[in-house]
Amino acid sequence: MATSPETLPGPDESRELRTSSELVGVDAWQPGRGTAHPPGAYGFFTDTTVCIGCKACEVACKQWNQLPDDGFLFTGESYDNTSDLGASTWRHVAFVEREGPVDLSWFGEDVSPAVAQTGEDPFRWLMMSDVCKHCTHAGCLDVCPTGSIIRTEYDSVFVQPDICNGCGMCVVACPFGVIDRNEDDGRAFKCTLCYDRLHGGLEPACAKACPTDSIVFGEVEDLVELAQERVAVLHERGVSSAYLYGADEAQLPGTGQLNAFFLLTDRPEVYNLPPDPVDPTEWVGSSWRSALATGAAMVAAVIGAVVSVAAGRSGR
Ligand code: SF4
Ligand code: SF4
Repeated sequence: MATSPETLPGPDESRELRTSSELVGVDAWQPGRGTAHPPGAYGFFTDTTVCIGCKACEVACKQWNQLPDDGFLFTGESYDNTSDLGASTWRHVAFVEREGPVDLSWFGEDVSPAVAQTGEDPFRWLMMSDVCKHCTHAGCLDVCPTGSIIRTEYDSVFVQPDICNGCGMCVVACPFGVIDRNEDDGRAFKCTLCYDRLHGGLEPACAKACPTDSIVFGEVEDLVELAQERVAVLHERGVSSAYLYGADEAQLPGTGQLNAFFLLTDRPEVYNLPPDPVDPTEWVGSSWRSALATGAAMVAAVIGAVVSVAAGRSGR
């Protein structure tokens, strides 16, 4: 949401959530006048604790990017009918079913009777809107042999479909399983961070559509500050499990800081996120060293064998 001041659900109104417009500096650009966001690192802060699973972000992404539906299948995966990120699903809202009631302390003391009643249900959802992380060390970009995948002036990772040859190397190089090939022509697709909208001075469609500001768009530096404030508020309310995933280079050295990072309340694996993702090109150096060491050992073995045979013949 970009237009109205937001407060988080619950009685603690002292904690105001800045809007996406404030974070991107809405006064700095003029929509429709050919200006755009200034260059810099932009991304998403996704606060899973305020996601209500409405899937407005998924729909807005499909609508803006003119992506086809995924078929109207019953997946059996809770209330989720799109299952995963893919070539035609660039945002995916997961419904993670967990045992145990909702922890009402998250919402403070003034909980309405209706909400309190749901607290008796021995079942709850964790909801999370997943997306391309626009990694600092992006495996997809590093392995692309055609230069189709580039880093933009917004520090996002962008696939140029007209240069993609469909080799699929990026698909196996992404440690998050994000990027995917189109079944029809084999080309790779994923979230563009709404590159076209940024050029028009607009925020990405998913952040614009999210009714709870679970998805906030802005400059990564500002987003990290906002996210840290949110974690502190949750800790004050007794939600000691709240933490940030991907906001810090030291936490995920294999990919570096993620321009799209998350606030989680359970282990990363619960949300289908790897605990220690690694850009596979990080292993290129050690692979070459192993190959060279193996080659040197084989040459030494051959030389040793030749010398020992020669020594045996001369001793006869
Ligand atoms: S490696 Fe995966 S998550 Fe990272 S930028 Fe590429 S597609 Fe996105
Ligand atoms: S639009 Fe916001 S609240 Fe709705 S599913 Fe997406 S992230 Fe969750």
